[in-house]
Amino acid sequence: MTATIIDGKAVAKVLRKKYAQEVAELSAAGVAPGLAVILVGDNPASRLYVGNKTRACQECGVRSHLQVFPADVPEFDVLQAIGKLNQHPEIDGILVQLPLPAHIDLRKVLAAIDVDKDVDGFHLYNVGALVVGNTIFPPCTPFGVQLLLDSAGIEVEGKNAVIVGASNIVGKPMALMLLQREATVTVCHAKTRDLAQHTILADILIVAAGRPGLITAPMVRQGACVIDVGINKLPDGTTVGDVDFDSVKERAGWITPVPGGVGPMTVTMLIANTIRSARRRAAQKTYLADDSFWQA
Ligand code: NAP
Repeated sequence: MTATIIDGKAVAKVLRKKYAQEVAELSAAGVAPGLAVILVGDNPASRLYVGNKTRACQECGVRSHLQVFPADVPEFDVLQAIGKLNQHPEIDGILVQLPLPAHIDLRKVLAAIDVDKDVDGFHLYNVGALVVGNTIFPPCTPFGVQLLLDSAGIEVEGKNAVIVGASNIVGKPMALMLLQREATVTVCHAKTRDLAQHTILADILIVAAGRPGLITAPMVRQGACVIDVGINKLPDGTTVGDVDFDSVKERAGWITPVPGGVGPMTVTMLIANTIRSARRRAAQKTYLADDSFWQA
């Protein structure tokens, strides 16, 4: 059996076309969506990700505003910049590229972002909303995975979903989203004993550990859907995921490639969340005034 490849690049392209149309309509109505990105330092990977995000904005017609600070910028300056963007009437989304230098307190930075502009979905209110089963801004990577599953026609309800990786930005929100869709969810992490005994039970296996080659064919159930979130740069310069693609594709029913799987979706979901924020601005909706959360 050779797995069906879930082509994230192609799915993202279709979505971006749709979002470009929505942005054009909103702009014509006087609500041009705007995204502000803050980059601290000159981490090459961060620069690359920020470049991808800026390009996606251009492609969809979203106004983007990049603010770059040196690595030794005082924490106060970053918080002050966020404060100004919070007040800016034409900025719908604020994103601080992670990781931040060690002297900057991540918690303070995430808490400083206006929850109504938190398009990355990392503010504690958004995380809490995800826990109770509803959120305005789903974190971009798990949101992208969810749409990839939908695009491939993968049913989630009642399935065994196993997530390898329990980070706050991928594994945990992914688990909550799948739980919301009534999957039976297992979350594995570095301390999990005998990883294979969990992964082999997965109808849907989502891997986000940052360990190249972690998942091999014998760990995968025949016909499973395997989503590889990992992005690992090898010494020879190639980029691979966490799944041994060549062997696993002979066993899985569906698989995402790296690159060209989850990555393009993550960036595209940022556009989706920014559009959503602009629509809420137009409707003068605010988080705390939105009763729909508490009805989940
Ligand atoms: P992270 O914060 O380093 O978290 C990694 C998680 O994997 C942790 O929960 C860790 O467990 C777990 N883990 C590590 N080694 C493991 C092992 N041998 N077995 C089982 N679990 C293990 O990383 P992240 O930010 O979530 O990112 C994970 C990967 O996804 C990275 O390669 C990253 O580049 C990639 N990524 C891709 C996208 C995209 O758009 N495609 C977006 C974000 C991240 P502990 O909690 O016990 O330490």
